[in-house]
Parts: sequence; C-alpha cells; structure tokens
Amino acid sequence: MSGAPSREKSRELYRRACELMPAGVNSPVRAFRSVGGDPLYIRRGVGAHLEDEDGNVYLDCCGSWGPLILGHGHPEVLAAVENAMADGLTFGAPHRGEIELAEAVVAACPAVEMLRFVSSGTEAVMAAVRLARGFTGRDRIVKFSGCYHGHADALLVEAGSGLATFGIASSAGVPAGAAADTLVLPLDDEQAVSDLFAREGERIAAVLIEPVPANCGLLLQRPGYLRHLRDVTERHGALLIFDEVISGFRIGMGGAAAHYGIRPDLATYGKIIGGGLPVGAFGGRREIMERLAPLGPVYQAGTLSGNPAAMAAGTATLRVLTEERVHARLEALGARLEAVVAPAAAASGATFVRLGSIFWLVAQIGAPTAYAAVDEAAIRRYAPLHARMLAAGVYLAPSGWEVAFLSHAMNETDVDRLGVTLAAALTAGRAG
Ligand code: PMP
Repeated sequence: MSGAPSREKSRELYRRACELMPAGVNSPVRAFRSVGGDPLYIRRGVGAHLEDEDGNVYLDCCGSWGPLILGHGHPEVLAAVENAMADGLTFGAPHRGEIELAEAVVAACPAVEMLRFVSSGTEAVMAAVRLARGFTGRDRIVKFSGCYHGHADALLVEAGSGLATFGIASSAGVPAGAAADTLVLPLDDEQAVSDLFAREGERIAAVLIEPVPANCGLLLQRPGYLRHLRDVTERHGALLIFDEVISGFRIGMGGAAAHYGIRPDLATYGKIIGGGLPVGAFGGRREIMERLAPLGPVYQAGTLSGNPAAMAAGTATLRVLTEERVHARLEALGARLEAVVAPAAAASGATFVRLGSIFWLVAQIGAPTAYAAVDEAAIRRYAPLHARMLAAGVYLAPSGWEVAFLSHAMNETDVDRLGVTLAAALTAGRAG
C-alpha cells in the first residue's frame, strides 16, 4: 500500500468512541498517544493481515500484543472454538477442556507441575505473588525497573511501556501501602540483587521477573544474570517467579525457562495459551500450588476461569505449535528479517534486537539491557518510523517501547517485504 490511504471511517469511529470510553479505548497504548494520529479501527484479521474499516490492509506485526503466534483465524483454532461453543459458553463447573490444556502446558514446561487458569496475565501474576507470600510467610517482593506484570496495585511500580509511554512512574490511585512491599531493582545488575538480599533476604517472598523483558523494548538479559537470581533466591528461601506472559510458548514450547535452562518456582502465562481468547495461568512446584484454596489457605477464584472456548483455543494453538514446528520456522523467518534490517538499522544509528519471533527497533547504538540505558530521545524517534510503516501497509505497535512479533501466518515474501520496508523507513528517518 502506498500514497495516503483514507482513514476516514476509523477517524469517525474514534470520535464516537471518545465520547464513551476514556481516550476511546479499553487499554491505554491502543490510543496512539505516543505516535500521534488516531488509532485504526480494525474490521477483521485474516492470517498475517489486518484490515481496517476503510479497507486498508496491513501486515500485522503486533499480533494483538503477543497471543496471535499463529496469525488471525487459524482454521484449527477456529474449528476448536466453534466445537466448544456448540456445547455451551461457560459452565462454572469442571470440564474436560481444562485438563487438556493443563496437560499440554505441564508437558511443555518442566517447572509447571500443577497450574491454575485465570482470565488474564494480570490475574495470573497477582495470584502468583499472593501465593508466594502465602507460601513463604514473607511480604516483600522484588521486581525490576521496566518489567511489566499487569496492573495489580503492588506491581504498578516502574512498570515499563504503557507507563513509561505516559511518563507515569507509578499510577495514581495506588495507596502507598500497596506498593510499600515492592522493591525495585535495575535489570542486569547482579551486585544490586546480592546487596538487597544481604540486607533484606529474610523478608523477601519472591523475585518476579520477565525473563525476556519485553515491555520496555526488548532488554535481553545474560543467562548468567538469570542464574544469579535463581541462586540468590534459593539461598535465601525466596521464590523465583518467571513472568512468561509474553515469552511463554513464544520463544519455544518451554518458554524462557527452557531457553535459559533455569527452573523457576512459579511461572505465569497468558496471551498464547489462550490462542486469542482471554486466558492466563500460573503454575509451578506442586507443594506451592497445593497451598491454594480449597487445598490450602491462599484464596483465589474466577467465574469464567477455565472457560471452555478459551481452553479449546489454547489447546488447539499449542497443538499446532508442536505439530507444525512453528518455533523453528519463526526463528528462520526472524533470522531472514534480521539479515536485512540489522545492517540498515546500524547504518542509521539504530539497533535491531531480536529473540526468535520477537523484535525491537530502537534508535540508539547498541542493545540496552536495563531501563535506564534506554534513551528517551530514541523512543521519540519511533513516531515517524511508525507513521512511515503504517503508510506502507505495516502495522507496528503504536509505541517505541513496544516489541513487534512475527507470526506463523507470515511467509517468506511477507518477511522480505517487511525487511525492505523497515530498511527504507530507517534510511528515510536518517535522511529526515
Ligand atoms: N505480564 C507480562 C509480561 C505482560 O506482558 C502482560 C501484558 N502485556 C501482563 C503480565 C498482563 O497481562 P494482561 O494484559 O493479560 O492482564
């Protein structure tokens, strides 16, 4: 797509929406505030593409922020959901579909001996933190600057993209007490972790990390650093929680835990395990999970948890991932993209960061590994790149803090076109 596509219908819908919902949206970054312009209204998604209300078609590199590793409307996923829905939308009682998805997750993730399903990533992390506190009898948790773990009060502290985008260090409406037991450390700093544990070790219930931090750009960590977290927590009787809401089933069936060969005590999932429907999960060591109600004293519940349609979408998604060896294919597509974009990025003073099918372009030299190392000016330079890509028919997430995703619905031609378009946009940015 070239020239200036009409966005009239999207604009009109956005005007209507703004009267009804704050900034017209149901999740803040969707409002395009950090890239300027109005959001597009999407009429449908087909395979690797989105079509907006004005009939413009875009290669979708946002993938609904991660769940759509198979692209839109994969036939096996749709068939599984239709079959499940024919038998009812929700029972509020146990059903076979929960067991099937649980078995698939347990089989893929060695650290997950038992799990419980919820309806979002936020819920999954919130429950995992409560469970860690209940299990250890300690109150403090450690998180890392730039990592996002959903919008539970205690975790909205230095929490990455959406917040960094709007310059909010921690949200209004969070009582000081709710965040008082949340300790924040910089990523990629072993000494900071050791020092904190030397002072506070006996009071720390858990260290919570995105093992592949992907909410503040893509701040890839050294395996040795993640191993250090494992060692320190083990030594002090604290739990290690991997938030795999993005990385789970994205960088391989076993997520970051398998990729780095580190076994967390608890892990949280979302996005891909719901195949596009609302699902989250938290799981881990059996003795910890057995502290959950009704077996143990840690309460957690959900009306729609284990929803039949969502379970079916997740199970079908995980089956396709395995049967079609999707991760190997996505790695090859990612490498193909990198071969074109990384040199173009370097030539324009930018850096292309990638792990498998997750990538991030940042307008600074060298890949940052901690929030403080990300140059705010580099993030601002994303807005014109985003606009150029949109005009060229590529839908990227509307914020420089966000990563992009490849999907199994993309083919070599899509990826080659994406590479050429990104390279051209980078070069144009340098000239401009
Ligand atoms: N944890 C991580 C690592 C995430 O990326 C997100 C969402 N982007 C969440 C938790 C929260 O998930 P949800 O939006 O489904 O509540």
